[in-house]
Amino acid sequence: MSELQPVRGTRDLIGEDFRRHAHVIDTARHVAGLYGFDEWATPIFEDTRVFARTLGETSDVVSKEMYSFTDRGGDSLTLRPENTAGVCRALVTNGLTQSLPQKVFYAGPMFRYERPQKGRYRQFHQIGCELIGAAEPLADAEVIAAGFDILTRLGIADSVILELNTLGDRESRDAYRSALVAYFTAHKASLSEDSLTRLERNPMRILDSKNEGDKALVADAPIIDPYLTPSAAAFFEQLQGHLTRMGVAHTRNARIVRGLDYYSHTAFEFVTTALGAQGTVMAGGRYDGLVEEMGGPPTPAVGWAAGIERLSMLLAAPPAAPRSVVVIPAGETEALAVEVVQTLRRAGIRAEIGYRGNLKRRMERANKQGARAAVIIGEAEAARGVAQMKDLVTGEQHEVALGDLAARLT
Ligand code: ATP
Ligand code: MG
Repeated sequence: MSELQPVRGTRDLIGEDFRRHAHVIDTARHVAGLYGFDEWATPIFEDTRVFARTLGETSDVVSKEMYSFTDRGGDSLTLRPENTAGVCRALVTNGLTQSLPQKVFYAGPMFRYERPQKGRYRQFHQIGCELIGAAEPLADAEVIAAGFDILTRLGIADSVILELNTLGDRESRDAYRSALVAYFTAHKASLSEDSLTRLERNPMRILDSKNEGDKALVADAPIIDPYLTPSAAAFFEQLQGHLTRMGVAHTRNARIVRGLDYYSHTAFEFVTTALGAQGTVMAGGRYDGLVEEMGGPPTPAVGWAAGIERLSMLLAAPPAAPRSVVVIPAGETEALAVEVVQTLRRAGIRAEIGYRGNLKRRMERANKQGARAAVIIGEAEAARGVAQMKDLVTGEQHEVALGDLAARLT
């Protein structure tokens, strides 16, 4: 029988990999809480229309990357490629459009059929924040500042730059789109096939192209600034003012459009040069049209998502592995050792029992697994109600009354 392999683009999270992953989530959850975000968990699969309708048919995600399937009841379902659409669907179906604003944090797996490489997987994980029901630039600033504080707490803010852009309001965007169509039509011959389709269906998306030839054209394409309406320009000004006051450094990148169709005004990415081609660690923007697309009332919203794998790779020091106390029966003392290990656990101490082998073997194993202490209970000690407690870091050994063990090990 051929050996079973993990599905291409998926990874097992074991040991240090899992600890890095969990540390990113725990830190993000904590910081998001400081900003008043509550955690939601929405289903990992949704009706395909939740994504197809809202992410934009021309987006890479919908046109090439979705894991969609027909279930046994004949319904078309899709493994979520991102969580913003699911959160908006949940907002509407739980009747929460009457209780705004909602500040949502989430963490979990996402699925996209992409070419796997470093920092790019088919099952990957995101953390994200969404602030739904606030149209003010202060909301954008708070959402971005929460992201920035998470990166700071993770110790990676210094290796990351916040790049900020505006996509304006509808009027600005319509005018800008016409300018882009004129420019790219004049250079049609040099555009990639994908971008020729984008030119017809969603020309702004060409700015997001990964094709090298397209990128050269994009470098000289018009920027949105001359096309911004006064109110869209004022919105962008205010956002930058708030960010500066909040101590969040930022630079302008007029090429950021975001991959998904529903963005307006703010678009931003936290990028690093430390991860090669996969340099975007956190990305988001304002998506005022999405809740309405989902069947709710017109509702302004802003948010971001960050790839946990990419953040995990940037963590300088991996979180330390937890260290156990190992209780080792030497001789016929296993029954007592079981009682002792349970007492320690119930006192809040990570404790394990040494299985198998003679005392030497068990001690070797305790050292190898990185235990912090060994509690050795020989028959003579058992008779006197004591144990040998050995500190495996310093090598010091003391006799300790069984009743005092928990206090000595706390
Ligand atoms: P990219 O340009 O890298 O494909 P994207 O625009 O598709 O990114 P978003 O949909 O904005 O990405 O997702 C937000 C974040 O989620 C990204 O910045 C990245 O950190 C992470 N991410 C997206 N796709 C993947 C993937 N396939 N594997 C790992 N992380 C991913
Ligand atoms: Mg992508």
